[in-house]
Amino acid sequence: MAAILLDVDGVFHVSREPIAGGAEAVERLRRDGHRLRFVTNNTTQTRAALAEELRGMGIQLDDEELQTTPRAAAATLAGRRVLALTMHAIVGELEGIDLVGEDAEAVLIGGADETPETNLVFSYMNLARAFHELEAGAELFCLHKNRWWQTKHGPALDAGAFVAGLEYATQVDATVLGKPSTAYFEAALKALDADAGMTWMVGDDIEADIAGAQAHGMRTILVRTGKFRPDAVEATPVRPDGIISSIAQLPDWLEEHL
Ligand SMILES: [Mg+2]
Repeated sequence: MAAILLDVDGVFHVSREPIAGGAEAVERLRRDGHRLRFVTNNTTQTRAALAEELRGMGIQLDDEELQTTPRAAAATLAGRRVLALTMHAIVGELEGIDLVGEDAEAVLIGGADETPETNLVFSYMNLARAFHELEAGAELFCLHKNRWWQTKHGPALDAGAFVAGLEYATQVDATVLGKPSTAYFEAALKALDADAGMTWMVGDDIEADIAGAQAHGMRTILVRTGKFRPDAVEATPVRPDGIISSIAQLPDWLEEHL
């Protein structure tokens, strides 16, 4: 039996619309004895809200099985003075961080979402404030550095563009806290008490999920849902161990290949 890390956005849903067969797949993976952890770069909902939403789609999971980036940030930045450009909904997850408007030791950039709040969080005023703090010596962190994500209306610009913009302006490199960072994958493996070589990462993102997990010695399966693009697969030297139509095919695929 394997340890399996399951990406969420684009694997189980797109813009909160469930992808067919996800709930049944999770049920069967559990029945087949696999150990599961849900690993998301979602930066706009609390873990409890996201877990509840997934349960609403019929997917069985406990809150503790869901690994989110704001909690990774809290673990890394606890006790520090941080200017956070993040959605209000996750502020409660940044437990132990001293959130400040100026004189920050670190700047934390979260992800965008589909609401108008994104306009406020990543306003010129806020980005210029972040720039000022970085110029004054603050360290730059981001929950993820994704370029875009898939919505039901098509691809949407994600906050990786703002992270890259701040890096460009200040000549500092951001530390990524979510996928594909070492710390994030290590935390997932530790939670499952799993070796990387015996662990599978399943996702729709050839970079953050597949290349990221391979760099950590895991085996990988790419789903053809969410942000999957055939062109992106052809354009990269990254080769997942398997490519499946959707999460619905995962139990059969594993049965055949394990
Ligand atoms: Mg995804």
